[in-house]
Amino acid sequence: MGVLWFNEIGKQDVPVVGGKGANLGEMFRNEIPVPNGFVIDSKTYRDFIEKTGIKEKIEKELENLDVEDTETLSKVSQRIRKLVESTPIPEDIKKEIKAAYEQLVKLEGSKVYVAVRSSATAEDLPGASFAGQQDTFLNVDEKNLIHYVRKCWSSLYTPRAIYYRVQKGFKHEDVSIAVVVQKMVNSEKSGVMFTSHPVTGELLTIVEAVFGLGEAIVSGKVTPDTYVFDRVKRKLVDVKVGEKSMMITKKNGKTVEIELDEKKAKERVLSDEEVLKLVEIGEIIESHYGTPQDVEWAIENGKIFIVQSRPVTTIKKKTETEEMTEESEAEVLIKGLGASPGFGTGVVKVIKGEKEISKVQEGDILVTTMTTPDMVPAMRRAAAIVTDEGGMTCHAAIVSRELGVPAVVGTKKATQILKDGMMVTVDGEKGIVYAGSVAEVKKEEKVELAASAPLITATEVKVNVSIPDAAERAAATGADGVGLFRIEHMVLGLDKHPMKYIKEGQMDLYIDALYKEMRKVLKAFYPKPVWIRTLDAPTDEFRAMEGGEDEPIEANPMLGFRGIRRDLFEEEHLRAEFRAIKKLIDEGLTNVGIMLPLVSNVEEVRKAKRILLEEGIPLNKIEFGIMVETPASALIIEDLVKEGLDFISFGTNDLTQYTLAVDRNNENVAYLFDETHPAVMKLIEMVIKVCREYGVKTSICGQAGSYPHVVEKLVELGIDSVSANQDAVKAVRETIYRIERKIMLDKLRKL
Ligand code: PEP
Ligand code: MG
Repeated sequence: MGVLWFNEIGKQDVPVVGGKGANLGEMFRNEIPVPNGFVIDSKTYRDFIEKTGIKEKIEKELENLDVEDTETLSKVSQRIRKLVESTPIPEDIKKEIKAAYEQLVKLEGSKVYVAVRSSATAEDLPGASFAGQQDTFLNVDEKNLIHYVRKCWSSLYTPRAIYYRVQKGFKHEDVSIAVVVQKMVNSEKSGVMFTSHPVTGELLTIVEAVFGLGEAIVSGKVTPDTYVFDRVKRKLVDVKVGEKSMMITKKNGKTVEIELDEKKAKERVLSDEEVLKLVEIGEIIESHYGTPQDVEWAIENGKIFIVQSRPVTTIKKKTETEEMTEESEAEVLIKGLGASPGFGTGVVKVIKGEKEISKVQEGDILVTTMTTPDMVPAMRRAAAIVTDEGGMTCHAAIVSRELGVPAVVGTKKATQILKDGMMVTVDGEKGIVYAGSVAEVKKEEKVELAASAPLITATEVKVNVSIPDAAERAAATGADGVGLFRIEHMVLGLDKHPMKYIKEGQMDLYIDALYKEMRKVLKAFYPKPVWIRTLDAPTDEFRAMEGGEDEPIEANPMLGFRGIRRDLFEEEHLRAEFRAIKKLIDEGLTNVGIMLPLVSNVEEVRKAKRILLEEGIPLNKIEFGIMVETPASALIIEDLVKEGLDFISFGTNDLTQYTLAVDRNNENVAYLFDETHPAVMKLIEMVIKVCREYGVKTSICGQAGSYPHVVEKLVELGIDSVSANQDAVKAVRETIYRIERKIMLDKLRKL
């Protein structure tokens, strides 16, 4: 090893060629038109520091370094960088790099300028993003290639990179760096492209384009053209021609700015055909990676090249339009996860617990460590919600989405940074809290999105519900039913612990409370089916309730006394739930279904079913099913199905957690939480196959059912319905519509 060509590299090669290198190789291999090049691998850097003996010197400099001491950090960084940049590269390494460059010239048939980019081996890993901390050098030729390679190596020691490694607990000696050397495209035109809408995930490709090199967009000196292509309707739905007063281009190897006359400045950069070609390449890249991409492209001699592609995580500054300046100029106070979309401006009210909820007035910003069911009335009044803790499936996230209140969760420090009385604006999509009142920017407002007729899909699109009072709102999405009615939020919101009602001889009171709340949801959706899930709250969540003091203290509540296992242990409670449901059926609300959570054993289904029958629930009138959310249930699906099920529903939040051994609530390992991990997908695929054989309906109600890129895969695997969060119903329906049409077209083409 030493030098690896793009066609020798794949996405698994991050440790050898770094994130950037692996990505380029992966695309090149898959015939995505990236300019050719090679990577000087991470081992070469190690050889360099070892053979020249500077390794020890670097280690010595970093030993006992206090990274909080900014001045010393900066001095140490400077000394190491100078050392790396001034140490001659051993002859054998130099030879290999030069030979590769000459080979590239030969392949291209003319003198080439290259881009030299550092590609750190820990870069681009979620949660450990070193991206942007290493350097890129453009228009490099043979003369100064070696010089810039060393500069890339030394970028491993910028103060920020050193600081980050210490903060994230990476050892300096474990992080290495590769260098990408790639032919520069002498672009006539270039720009960026989001293969799907970067905020909403809608199937709209957005292309920004300028004449010359793409740096003009980044510099902000010109307003690029913007093209919006609707991937469902297959047409260009919006073109905004920008004022491109200049272009950046290359002259004799130097980057220069050239002024454009008025006519050229207002000329459209891309033809319809070029946009379409870009969209098609974008679709190939997106489907290859299985997630929307943020792509940099360039056109040279009429040929399109893809220079870079990364998953869309958030809107990048360079693609923001003029209108967004206002927003980007606002002071960011704190960031977290965008858990419920929308903008909310108001006065901060930090609340420490349920007792303080009266502080929150209509239109305030509710800030708290984590919301609890008692806070729902205040959440309803709030203009937005911000929490310290939580992920996309925490209480605050689920409830705010249903109430339609913007929310940012998992900010870690909101209760410290935001103070009572501060005026702030919360962007629940991007997960940002700004100081003051910031205008909402509706980027694509002018674009007519929805088709006028409702989309009819063969795969049903359902919605998840937790708050009965918000059921009408959920039904207004036009969803085909409720694929998951989580009753724990409503139970945790009652006056006391369910078992306290039962122990105190007030079971009827409890049944009545359940009945009344369930009824609201069934009526809002009648006659569409509502699958009610029996109680699934971990012990730690019950503890705060009156009567919750007897809850066992568990080291790991996620693996503990929850779901159907608990309800079978506290059988009276399960009977209470079934009796409430029986009352509804007797009243004619037969659109109810019953779903058991956290099933792992056949006996659980058998016992629950026996109790159901004992309680007089007519199984011929209603649907009965289970969640598949433990690997055990997936692996023994055939045995479970044989017990008699109408449906199963994938709980991918838990299924992912248990398959990958990644605690879904632990932010330290959140970067490993991947519902599309091959192991999870394999279990899903297996279960769908068996269920189809037995005529059992399949559905998904985990958070992944709200992600269009996951939904695409599930529809291809033959899932019968998808239950999404309220705010995602529309996007999910559009995805399903498109993917079903594609499947049908593919079939027709094969006929
Ligand atoms: C799941 O596990 O995916 C699920 C939908 O259940 P919950 O998030 O309530 O555990
Ligand atoms: Mg679950």
